[in-house]
Amino acid sequence: MEISLAPTQIEQLTRLSRSSLPNESCAFLLGKNDRVVEILAMQNADQSAISFSIEPQEVLHAYDVAESKKLQVIGIFHSHPARPAPSNTDKKFMEINPVVWLIYSTTEQEFKAYVYDSDVREVAVKITA
Ligand SMILES: [Zn+2]
Repeated sequence: MEISLAPTQIEQLTRLSRSSLPNESCAFLLGKNDRVVEILAMQNADQSAISFSIEPQEVLHAYDVAESKKLQVIGIFHSHPARPAPSNTDKKFMEINPVVWLIYSTTEQEFKAYVYDSDVREVAVKITA
């Protein structure tokens, strides 16, 4: 299992993460199979540097957009002003929502992806046009 993003999408997520500092940013990753087609930036309702949450109506909106474009929500993105490892809260929500969780570290300028599959495991991040 892996997640594939275009270089421009990596740039878009990097920019979103930087512009949200000092807080975490978040987005839904819409696509097909492992390939991200569209990024939907979301508001971090927590306005926090150590957590994020997305209002239920925004979540519903994201799923509506995905459906109207015949795409699926294949991943959830958020940034960490820290190491790109899932927090305990992340792990809890990963278990409830077993899509790919993509994390960007603004301190280490690094993307890492994880999925919950009986335990949290890392998946490859592929950057291809
Ligand atoms: Zn996190």
